[in-house]
Amino acid sequence: FKSKLPYIHSHIFSYMTGLANQYNAINLSQGFPNFEPAQQLKDLVAQCLNQNTSQYAPMAGLPALRNQVAIKIQKCMNVGVDADTEVTIGCGATEMIFNTIAAFVWPGDEVIIIEPGYDCYRPAIDVVGGKPIVYKMQAPDFKIDWVKFATYITPKTRMIITSTPNNPTGVLMTNNDMLQLAQLVKGTDIIILSDEVYEHMVFDGAAHHSPLQYPELRERTVAVFSFGKTLHITGWRIGYAIASPDLTIELRKVHQNTVFSASHPLQKAIALYLAETDEYLNLPAFYQQKRDIFLNAMSGTRFKPLHCQGSYFQLFDYSDISNEGDLAFCERLIKDYGVAAIPVSRMYSDNHDDKLLRFCFAKTDDLLIAAGSKLTAL
Ligand code: GLN
Repeated sequence: FKSKLPYIHSHIFSYMTGLANQYNAINLSQGFPNFEPAQQLKDLVAQCLNQNTSQYAPMAGLPALRNQVAIKIQKCMNVGVDADTEVTIGCGATEMIFNTIAAFVWPGDEVIIIEPGYDCYRPAIDVVGGKPIVYKMQAPDFKIDWVKFATYITPKTRMIITSTPNNPTGVLMTNNDMLQLAQLVKGTDIIILSDEVYEHMVFDGAAHHSPLQYPELRERTVAVFSFGKTLHITGWRIGYAIASPDLTIELRKVHQNTVFSASHPLQKAIALYLAETDEYLNLPAFYQQKRDIFLNAMSGTRFKPLHCQGSYFQLFDYSDISNEGDLAFCERLIKDYGVAAIPVSRMYSDNHDDKLLRFCFAKTDDLLIAAGSKLTAL
């Protein structure tokens, strides 16, 4: 048979984590916390397992959790969302991203993706026969030039995939970015897929802007969010999508026929937890402090930091240290210096290499400090 994804040989995040484990290195590569979620949340799961949750949850998600999501969106974004017709709970944001692409992209349709970016968009577009059109942001500030971006839109453009805060650059889309996007898609039938999994990790007083907050974008947007990122539970695989009722109907058709529904006890526990606490509102301060501890730990090295406005990733330029390609350099960092990072070239479909590495700072302070001191030897 002919592979639909011939360019996929391995998963860069799993590869780097595997190598970090093999060499017992400090793993700042794959984006996940090395600390536990709230004990209260884990206790709720244990309780929920004894509360009749062992059979299928409703296809679109537990009503109690969809209600909590609607409350959260109102509180954080000042956007009214109907829990019945506009919220769908899935098995992680990644599932909802795939479903959105599968539901709306027809063979031959063009989908604009922005790079560097998370690596699951392009494969999903290719699997359904769409055509990925890559808009490249330029280092070091990774801003979108909307005049140039406009030239990527054709009558075949079916979807634009945006992400803010962006993985791996940590760059935020601003109010002006949203207005420019709204202007561009006005009068078209283009759908926006908005990846907002790092919505609560915005620093230095900046605000998170979602297309859901802009009336001209709201009706054409599927916005995808992650409890994995927000509650430190990336392994539980629970995320959600918000979209208008018309879009949600189609999205749920794909969800229904892939996984049908997400884990029942986990959904119930998260719903009960969110009813009791909004501790996630502390995430900006929590992660800003980690960013700063890590930057401070790295200040004695020859790595040059780029500005991180959000997400839990910090980019560093290593061109003062080596001419090696970033993948080879990362492999050497693990083997010789005991620290794992992600080569940013792997987050471009053409492996564009600016000699940048991505480090995840969702780690305990001791690890961030130890990584910095190991890298001073370089
Ligand atoms: N989002 C995480 C990252 O960018 C990893 C996700 C995954 O490994 N599936 O590192």
